Amino acid sequence: MLNPVMSVLLSAYLAFSGFYMYGSTASIDSKSAESVSIDKVIEEHQPNELGKIMVVMYHNLVETEAEEGDYARSYANFEKDLIRLHENGYAPIRMSEWISGKIDVPAGKTPVVLTFDDGHPTDIQLDKNGKPTEQCVVGIMEKVQKKYLDFVPKATFYLNGPAALGDLELDKKKIDYLMSHGYEIQNHTSNHLHLNAIPLDQAREEIVSQAKRLEKFTKSKNFHLALPFGQRPDNYAELVRGDWLGEYKMLSSVNVGWDPIPSVYDKDFDPYDIHRVTCGEDDFELYFWMDDFESVPQTRFYSDGNPDTITFPVSEKDKFNEEGMSGFQKIIYDDESLKIIEE
Ligand SMILES: [Zn+2]
Repeated sequence: MLNPVMSVLLSAYLAFSGFYMYGSTASIDSKSAESVSIDKVIEEHQPNELGKIMVVMYHNLVETEAEEGDYARSYANFEKDLIRLHENGYAPIRMSEWISGKIDVPAGKTPVVLTFDDGHPTDIQLDKNGKPTEQCVVGIMEKVQKKYLDFVPKATFYLNGPAALGDLELDKKKIDYLMSHGYEIQNHTSNHLHLNAIPLDQAREEIVSQAKRLEKFTKSKNFHLALPFGQRPDNYAELVRGDWLGEYKMLSSVNVGWDPIPSVYDKDFDPYDIHRVTCGEDDFELYFWMDDFESVPQTRFYSDGNPDTITFPVSEKDKFNEEGMSGFQKIIYDDESLKIIEE
């Protein structure tokens, strides 16, 4: 027979481990969303899946605020960023999820893609038991998840070369941890060169050689790229839309700056010209754009909670990329009455 304290501990443990199992795939969100009717979702959340989102750019984490450069955050400030995003209705997703259009966040939430360039050691550090320490991105995300059980850690790490994540060779243990806990590794080229300043063949080799290296872990020839320094060869967009990379396929590419991006379902969205918002609290950085969304909420993406449907008010209809999104069910509602007028 369990004493009362033990049974409380046991039920807390079961609740947490149950959540954790679902939380790592985020399927709990879509399951609960399915049981709520779309009319109710529209009434409660006025979803707008043609609104904008932020792709946030970080590099490394540092111990103190004094050491923060343009792209670095202190451990404490990174935790503060995650909490502020969470409390303001943002839910992290991976770049690959965004590009696929299968966006699995709860109804009323705004997806946000958190990206980390250069494979810094502060992306992930594991202790001797194989658990992330609190001095890395992954450890801090999981610390926030313990505080907010509905926070689902997800991020995209753009790695360059064989030496990344603090090791001379890509460390299988760290990458296995990332890939089995909601994170993804993507391409930041082999040698981090200025792709606009080298011959085109060399630029391609920079991208393909890193794609090959990552394929050993991802088992995929598809990848997403972060351009080093945000610089691109001439005719880059045309090249990557064709077969420039041979058997490898680049599904998206991110720049360095500077503002929120159109919805993946918007005709104006270009997967090869994705802007990123720089982390930080100054003008045109993360906190600035969060405040901007507060002042013009009609520009912001709010999810309908169902990855298979695209829901938006009729006033947004002209933006919709009907042809590109044929695999999804669209749901259009009236801005005033909130009644569905087309589905
Ligand atoms: Zn870089």
